[in-house]
Amino acid sequence: MGIYLDYNASAPIDERVLSAMMEVYRNSYGNADSRTHGFGENARKIVENARMQVASLLSVDKSEVFFTSGSTESNNIAILGLQEFAEKSNKKHIITTAIEHKSVLETAKSLEKQGYRIDILKPDESGRICVEQIKELLSEDTLLVSIMHANNETGIIQPVKEIGEFLKEQKVLFHVDATQSCGKLVEELRELSYDMLSLSAHKFYGPQGIGALILRKKRYKLPPVKAITYGGQQESGIRPGTIPVGLVAGLGVACELAEADYKKNMEHCRECKTIVLEQLAQCGLEYIINGNQEFCMENTVNVSIKGVEAEALMLSSKQYCGISNGSACNSKSYSPSYVLVAMGLDENRISSSVRLSWGAGTDQDELKSNVKKLLNVAKGLVF
Ligand code: PMP
Repeated sequence: MGIYLDYNASAPIDERVLSAMMEVYRNSYGNADSRTHGFGENARKIVENARMQVASLLSVDKSEVFFTSGSTESNNIAILGLQEFAEKSNKKHIITTAIEHKSVLETAKSLEKQGYRIDILKPDESGRICVEQIKELLSEDTLLVSIMHANNETGIIQPVKEIGEFLKEQKVLFHVDATQSCGKLVEELRELSYDMLSLSAHKFYGPQGIGALILRKKRYKLPPVKAITYGGQQESGIRPGTIPVGLVAGLGVACELAEADYKKNMEHCRECKTIVLEQLAQCGLEYIINGNQEFCMENTVNVSIKGVEAEALMLSSKQYCGISNGSACNSKSYSPSYVLVAMGLDENRISSSVRLSWGAGTDQDELKSNVKKLLNVAKGLVF
């Protein structure tokens, strides 16, 4: 299968995370909400320890961490959970962007049908949205601004710091989808001003199916988010359902490891990027990197190779590289990437774009030789 270069879709679980989870699954099978025996208490201790590990990575209080099944659910709660407050305060305007993950875009659009006003900002060719656009659109009835930190397809980092600073002074909630940056841009997230933040463990070497919604308190009060599902009081009623103790423990360890290793991982990813860019520069193909690289994550390259259909390249190079042309969530439909369309790129550039993403586990020698093979395959596909 060659080298795995689709870390933005899902990163391989760290062995240390896996062994911590196995230990929990073997020995701590109680329900963390069982109050009548030590098995429950033991499970609760594991959950609360993980909550502290998440809180520590993000420099928030542990009472601000709510476990969910991942960013899709966190994003849904962050948006749909505001409906009661929106009705009461008569604030039904949401600002988001055309490059958000579908769990933000489609959720926001679902509210449009119920009479909300949704403004969807477009980035320019750099892949970034502009803070001024938000300032202009803000009005008395603006409920929420929801902007991602790093884009999953291009790796482009959005100006969430500036947006957060501006919104701090406004009576508007700010939600940040930090799925691609959590555990990587650690200091940036610690310093960021926001009300709600979504994360998924499997993007930073934790298990799939677990994540968190961070709700920041203002004057001791949580943002006015309510549950969107019913049936239990777990996670303070914000996310009902039995807490998956093993998964939560895995998320906790992934956070602890990220806190310890993020600088080392970042350096490793930077070196990997240099290797990929060198191979591109040397291969003799005509190509263009999508998105302004000044603002790009160190673990992502989105590149269009002139005259090479991405679908053909991905299929023909399968034995060397596991790459993709965008979000796995949309890969059943062969429509062009909505992110690159929103950036205003032309059709040919979009249909020839592929995304390579790597991480801590990427072997640099293997990367070099397999990217070389990939680009050789591409040469044979130029039309
Ligand atoms: N937001 C972004 C930016 C993502 O990249 C993803 C996953 N591709 C999600 C949200 C959803 O995460 P999950 O599938 O883990 O719920």
